[in-house]
Amino acid sequence: MVESTESESRRLLGRLREVMAGESAGQERLDEITHLIADSMGSEVCSVYLFRDDETLELCATEGLNVESVHQTRMRLGEGLVGRVAKYGKVVNTPDAPSAKGFRYMPETGEERYSAFLGIPIQRLGEKLGVLVVQSKEAREYSADAVYALEVVAMVIAEMTELGAFVGEGAALSPLHQQAVMLPGTAAQEGAAEGHVWLHEPRVVVTNPIADDPHRELERLNESVEELRVGVDKMLAMSQNGDKEQLKVLEAYRMFANSKGWMKRMEEDIARGLSAEAAVEKEQSQARARMEQVQDAYLRERLADLDDLSNRLLRILTGQGNHNAADLPPDPILIARNIGPGDLLEYGRSLRGIVLEEGSVGSHAAIVARALAIPLVVNTARITTEALNGDHIMVDGEQGIAHLRPDDTVVSAFRDKMAMQAKAQERYASIRDKQAVTPDGQKINLVMNAGLMADLPSLDSSGAEGVGLFRTELQFLVRNQMPKRSELVALYKRVLDAAHGKRVVFRTLDIGSDKVLPYMKPTDEPNPALGWRAIRVGLDKPGVMRMQLQALMRAAEGRPLTIMFPFVAQFEEYRAGRAEVKKTWEREEKLGHVLPETLEVGAMLETPSLAFAPRKFFEEVDFISIGGNDLKQFFFAADRENERVRKRYDTLNVSFLSLIERIVERCDETDTPLSFCGEDAGRPIEALCLAAIGVRTLSMRPASIGPVKSLLMRSDLSELRKVIMDARHRGEQSVRPAVMRYLRDN
Ligand code: PEP
Ligand code: MG
Repeated sequence: MVESTESESRRLLGRLREVMAGESAGQERLDEITHLIADSMGSEVCSVYLFRDDETLELCATEGLNVESVHQTRMRLGEGLVGRVAKYGKVVNTPDAPSAKGFRYMPETGEERYSAFLGIPIQRLGEKLGVLVVQSKEAREYSADAVYALEVVAMVIAEMTELGAFVGEGAALSPLHQQAVMLPGTAAQEGAAEGHVWLHEPRVVVTNPIADDPHRELERLNESVEELRVGVDKMLAMSQNGDKEQLKVLEAYRMFANSKGWMKRMEEDIARGLSAEAAVEKEQSQARARMEQVQDAYLRERLADLDDLSNRLLRILTGQGNHNAADLPPDPILIARNIGPGDLLEYGRSLRGIVLEEGSVGSHAAIVARALAIPLVVNTARITTEALNGDHIMVDGEQGIAHLRPDDTVVSAFRDKMAMQAKAQERYASIRDKQAVTPDGQKINLVMNAGLMADLPSLDSSGAEGVGLFRTELQFLVRNQMPKRSELVALYKRVLDAAHGKRVVFRTLDIGSDKVLPYMKPTDEPNPALGWRAIRVGLDKPGVMRMQLQALMRAAEGRPLTIMFPFVAQFEEYRAGRAEVKKTWEREEKLGHVLPETLEVGAMLETPSLAFAPRKFFEEVDFISIGGNDLKQFFFAADRENERVRKRYDTLNVSFLSLIERIVERCDETDTPLSFCGEDAGRPIEALCLAAIGVRTLSMRPASIGPVKSLLMRSDLSELRKVIMDARHRGEQSVRPAVMRYLRDN
C-alpha cells in the first residue's frame, strides 16, 4: 500500500475488524494486527508499543523485529524515536532513522537494519496509550497518504484498547481504568469523602470504530453536525444580551461547527473506513494532543472549545451521555474538567466530594464548594480521562489527593482517618450549645462567615452565635446578570429570618481584584489586588451600592441591621460610605418604608493604613472587623492567590501579631468592638493566639467553630499571652514554635 488509497485503508480496517470479531486472545490479536499492517503497508516491520506505566513503553507485538524482544524491550517516555512520538503526541517520519534526532540503538530487536521509520501516537482523548511503528530497509519517506492511513489504524487500535481487546491470557496489556491510581491536586476545601464517580460530562464509549458503509456514516455525520449547528445558533440567539465571555465561547463554537477543515478531515477519516464517531474522536484526540503542547492561552482556550464541541457532537451521534439525575449514585463524587457555580449549586448538597481537573482555590466553584462544605480538590491532572462513571474513589481534601479505585491498604487507612474525623465531629457536637469560655474565664464570641443561602442551616448546626461576615458579593457572582433590588430584598429577608434574631453583619459588595462580576465591564488594571475594588468602586459608582443599602433596610423592616464596608483604607472613605447610608435611610423614611430597629455601620480593616487612622475614626466607627486575608497580603506584600508566596509568612509572625495587638489597643482605648474575620480565625492555633492578644470575636467557616471552641475551652489565655510575649522578647520570628511547645506540655 505504498500510495495508501482510501479503498486500501478500508480493506485493512475490514481485516482488523475480522481479527477483533475472532476468538483469539489479547496477545494473539495484537500479533495478527501487526502482521496485517506490515503486509498492507508493504513494510518489513510493524510494531506496537504500549504503556506499561505512566513513564514506560513496552514492545507488545511485532512483525519483523526479533520476536524474543517482545515484552522485553522497554523505553522511557521521551527516550528514542518511539519515546519521542509518545511524549510529544506527534508523528515521526524519517527515511534515515539511525541519523534522526533522538534515535536509540536497541541491539535486541535487530533494528539497525531498517532505515525508514514512521511512528504514530496511539492516543484517545488526551490519554496516551502507545505508539504504532512501521519500518523498512529502503530509505524512503512515507507518503502523506500512508501517514494518514496509519493514523486511522492507530485510532482503531486506541478504541480497541479502550474496549479491552488486548487483555486476557498472556496479555499484552493490563486492562485500562481498573488499576488503582493516586492523583495529586491542590486542596481547595478540606474534608475526607468516599463515594462513587459521577462524571459531570460522561465519557462517550465508541463500540464501533470501523464501519462498512462510508456513505451512511457520512450521512450520519452531516445530520449530527447540522443538529449541532442549529443548537449552537439557538444558544447564540438566546445569549445575545448576556454574558460577553459566554458569547465569545459560543462564537468560537460556531466557527468550528462551520469550519471546512474540521469537516473535511472527518470526511476523509470516514472515507478510510472509520465510523462517524471514531472520526470525531480522532480529530478530538489530535486537538487534545496539541492542547498539551501549546503555551499560548488564547489558542489553548480555542482548542478547549473545540474539545467541548466534539463532546457535544459525540453525544448527538451516540445518544449517550445525556445524564439522568435519577442515575446519580447515593454517594456521588463529582468529576469534571471545570464547573461553574450555577451548575454546582444545582447538584447542591447531594455531592459527597468534588475533583476538578482544572479550577483554582479562589474560583467561584471553590467558593460554592466551601459554602456547601463539600471536600474539593482542584488542579488534578488526568482525572477526567482516568475516571469512569461508578468508579470507587476517595477524596482527601486536606492533602489535595484523589485516590481512584483505591486498593485495600489505602481504603483502610482512609477510613480510619474518616472515623477519627467523625469522632472529633461528635465531640464538637456535644459542645455545640456551650459558650466558648476559657479556663481563666474569658468569653470569646464565635460567629460564622457566610455568603449563600446554602450556608444558613450551618447557623444552628455549628453553634455559631451569629454571622460575623456575610459576603454579599457571592450572590452577585453566581449569577449571569445583576440581581434586581426586589430579589435582594427577598434574599436578605430570608437570611435575617433564618438567623432568628442572631446578629448578621452584611458586608457591602466587595468586588474587583479576584472577584469579577461576569456582567460588569472588566477593567484592565496592572495590579487588580491594589486596584479599583470594594468600597472604591462603591463610592465612585454609587448606583449599585445605593440599591444594596436600600434592599438591606427594606429586608430588615423593623429589625436590627448591621452593615460593614470592605477595604476601607482611610477615614474619609468610611465617612463617605456612612453618608450614603444616611442618605438612603432618609429616602426610605420619606418613602414611608418601615426602617430598621437599629443600625450599626462598621468598617473592615484590611490595609495596614487604617490601623494608624486618626483616633476620631475609631470613635466614629460602630465596629471594626479585621479582614486578615487581605491585611496579611498587604502587610507582607505577598499575594494571597499566589501559591509560591502565600504560605511564606506565618500569621503568628511577631510583626503581624504586633500589628493586630496595636489594633486591639486602639479599639480598647475608644471602646470600639473588634472582630477578626479572615481564614485564620478558623485555624485553632491562630484563633487561640488572636484571642490571647485580645481579639474577642472570631468569625470563621462554620466547620471551624467546633475545633476552635474545643481548643479555647481547654486553654488558659493569660498563660498563653505570657508565652507569646516571652517568645517576642527572645527575638523569635514567629511565636508558633513556643505556642506549640506550650500546648504539647499542657
Ligand atoms: C479578608 O480579606 O480577610 C476577608 C474576610 O475578606 P475576603 O476574604 O472576602 O476578601
Ligand atoms: Mg478582604
